[in-house]
Amino acid sequence: MTRYLININNDCNQCMECVEICQNKVLTEEFINMVKITLKDKHHYFRKYVRGCTCCESCEDICEQHAIWIIDPEWEEL
Ligand code: SF4
Ligand code: SF4
Repeated sequence: MTRYLININNDCNQCMECVEICQNKVLTEEFINMVKITLKDKHHYFRKYVRGCTCCESCEDICEQHAIWIIDPEWEEL
């Protein structure tokens, strides 16, 4: 199964809309909170390979901050 790369940048305001929409429960409040703690340490964005994400892009569509995007690692190799 492809493991997609979740990216979240500092514009995330922890609204949790993406948590609500993620049908695969990849995004959770704990995940978002952990990301924000990581981003406080001067990182511009957070990246993590995740299992279970189907790259449905619902989280990207709902995020008003445009703070989250998903990358298929195979695209990067093209
Ligand atoms: S929808 Fe966007 S701003 Fe809201 S918690 Fe998710 S990534 Fe952050
Ligand atoms: S792309 Fe879909 S499955 Fe993957 S994290 Fe976003 S909402 Fe969840």
